[in-house]
Amino acid sequence: MGNAMRTPSHAQPTAHQDADIDTSPSARAVFDKVASDPVPIPQAGIDRAVEIMRSARVFRYGEDTSEPSEVAQLEAEFAKYIGRTYAVAANSCGCTLFLALKALGVRPGDEVLCNTFTLAPVPGAIVHAGAKPVYVDIDEALTLDIDSLEIQIERSDAKIMLLSHMRGHFNDISKIAAICKRNGVRLVEDCAHTLGASWGDRFVGTYGDVACFSSQTFKHVNSGEGGLLITDDDEVAARAIIMSGSYMMYEQNGTCPPAEVFERIRDSVPNFSMRMSNVAAAMLRPQLRELPSWVDAWNERYRWIESRLSSIPHIQTIARAADEHYVGSSIQFLVEGLSHHQTERFVDVAKQHGVFLKWFGAVRTAGFTSRYDQWQYAPSVAALPKSDAILTNLMDMRVALSLTEADCAVIAQVIAEAVDDVI
Ligand SMILES: *Cc1c(COP(=O)(O)O)cnc(C)c1O
Repeated sequence: MGNAMRTPSHAQPTAHQDADIDTSPSARAVFDKVASDPVPIPQAGIDRAVEIMRSARVFRYGEDTSEPSEVAQLEAEFAKYIGRTYAVAANSCGCTLFLALKALGVRPGDEVLCNTFTLAPVPGAIVHAGAKPVYVDIDEALTLDIDSLEIQIERSDAKIMLLSHMRGHFNDISKIAAICKRNGVRLVEDCAHTLGASWGDRFVGTYGDVACFSSQTFKHVNSGEGGLLITDDDEVAARAIIMSGSYMMYEQNGTCPPAEVFERIRDSVPNFSMRMSNVAAAMLRPQLRELPSWVDAWNERYRWIESRLSSIPHIQTIARAADEHYVGSSIQFLVEGLSHHQTERFVDVAKQHGVFLKWFGAVRTAGFTSRYDQWQYAPSVAALPKSDAILTNLMDMRVALSLTEADCAVIAQVIAEAVDDVI
């Protein structure tokens, strides 16, 4: 039976196990668990979801307005949690990215800036909105190259930057926001991997004009599918609410701009029907309360793996800025000094021993990897050799909350032995 049938057993954040592993020369480490267990859905969320299904009131809007819908309650709680005025729920983060672009007024043929290290739904949202990406370089910390941003702002006509905090890496967002502002560029933060993360003393997602979060199963909260857009801007929020598909029942949203804003725009903004269901919101609400303890647990596991990887030859872990309070729900590293063929074998040997590495430099990216130079629907006009050099050597794996310290040691040992095998 596949993993779908497994019930994930989630270790408590404090669970320590005997980290000793057999290091005798003949023993070869094998990781026989799953490193990508999703976060659990708390019992309260399951119970509430079932209650909603029994009532059949799964759709968020309706004529019975005696109490706010589950989605409306999530929106109010999410906006409060992050510290922004408005939250708009939708059926995926990819949809909220599209809604953000449309709400900011992007038009067909427009250019939109975005970093090269991102996932396919990001250029997908740009193309969905009829626009064209203008790629901005990254650096060895996997974060935006700020010099490249200034160059691309200068060279292009883009008035929006879609900044993907891909795999939870980010640098000085306040500086990026200031550069964008100075140049009349609106900033959208893609926070699919940064729910719960902060730069300095503010949550990631509060630096841009709009930010988008994901509740897809492999992100920080899990409703299968789902996305949340946040903003402080009345008109952007009102447009996103109507476009998400509120059927003129927008006053039922959990955070709602003043009526006169809707009066002004309601007949000129299309409905794209991208709503979240009450069942998804029921699963999510109790997860928001668990999130801070999950963040601590992810980071503990991240450090267990990172500290071991950092001593392996040919492996370079990713530097983190002091102000980057990240969420280590996945880990990346660069392989250095190996040929393409050796790297291919390294990935293969690790896989044979139970560690599935996602390689951004594979000839043909697969699964949850993707690379900007392979998106034929969103071609890059300029060569970006710096991004290419980094992505070619980049490895990625998820960090599940269910991993113990002993598991992390085995994973690192599999990786060390796979390097040994190919050099
Ligand atoms: C997953 C992801 C998205 C899209 O999220 P969905 O909810 O699956 O649409 C966007 N950006 C990044 C960086 C992601 O990893």
